[in-house]
Amino acid sequence: MNIKFKKSYRFAVKSALYISVFSAVMLSALLYFTNAFSTGTVLLFFIILLVFSFFVLQYRVEHFIYRRVKKIYDDISLLEASPLRSKRITTDMATLTRELEKFARDKKMEIEALKIKEEYRREFLGNVSHELKTPLFTVQGYLLTLLDGAMNDKTLRKKYLQRAEKGVERLTYIVQDLDMITKLEVGDLNLHFTKFNILELIQSVFDLLEMKADKKGIMLMFDGKYLRPIMVYADQEKIQQVVTNLIVNSIKYGKENGTTEVSIEDLVNNKIIVRVKDNGEGIEKKNIPRLFERFYRVDKSGARTEGGSGLGLSIVKHIIEAHDEKIYVESTFKQGSEFSFTLEKSK
Ligand code: ADP
Repeated sequence: MNIKFKKSYRFAVKSALYISVFSAVMLSALLYFTNAFSTGTVLLFFIILLVFSFFVLQYRVEHFIYRRVKKIYDDISLLEASPLRSKRITTDMATLTRELEKFARDKKMEIEALKIKEEYRREFLGNVSHELKTPLFTVQGYLLTLLDGAMNDKTLRKKYLQRAEKGVERLTYIVQDLDMITKLEVGDLNLHFTKFNILELIQSVFDLLEMKADKKGIMLMFDGKYLRPIMVYADQEKIQQVVTNLIVNSIKYGKENGTTEVSIEDLVNNKIIVRVKDNGEGIEKKNIPRLFERFYRVDKSGARTEGGSGLGLSIVKHIIEAHDEKIYVESTFKQGSEFSFTLEKSK
């Protein structure tokens, strides 16, 4: 962009005028009082003029630049309560240029971040409607078939109502997951750190999911006997959600009559690692990097009976990262997977 600057003579004209008027007055006074044009007079005149010009120019320049710079600051501050404002206004051009460059850089980064957010929002909305559409149409299909006459057939009626119910159930947990992920992503996740026994928490998740696991003949177990409590410092409710999601997945993608084994090991730096291991379908290498993305599912066809919203693992990752901990996955296709995460031990 070519900006045209208007050349201004006002500053120079005014400054020259001040100095000339002063010199004329000075000269007249000197001539009048000394009545002679000696070397001493010239020297005196020179020194006085020098000092005066120095102060006039210094004052004028400062004042002139200050006024213009202040205007720039004010204009920028109008755009946003920028951090520039809190700083002292400077008449030093190099500092000002640096500050303006920094301001421009910050703005550019802000715009980039906004663009990414916008893209993310668009993608998120697209995914949400896509996810909701499938179960919604299923429910609608069954209800319409029932209304079209199937409800007169007692066995069909029950079957279709049950299927419609399944669709509603799926819609419910998609909405619940969405609610959770929205909270997680706006950073609304107020973690309540407490000290608790992770073994007890895992056992209670085992108890809750026993029926689900039984349906597939999957055994939920620890890898060995843990005789002493393992106390950790974390948000108990959120960690329960993590363990639940991982164990639910191990059941969903586990093989019939398989096992889900949980182990806890000490790590350095006062940490422990919890591993959830199954011997199910496993995950192909190429799909592993994307597992934790929102809505990502290995099998997108929907043909599979199992499968949730595709948000489970991304919820897990958010929670673990909010704790400043790490999550890992290892998997061999057709053999099984292991998801593990670290936690801080309580002293
Ligand atoms: P979903 O709701 O589809 O289970 P998740 O975010 O929990 O979504 O998981 C994403 C995908 O990761 C799943 O669709 C599945 O393909 C794969 N996955 C997750 N856990 C396992 C596991 N234990 N074994 C094999 N695949 C898994």
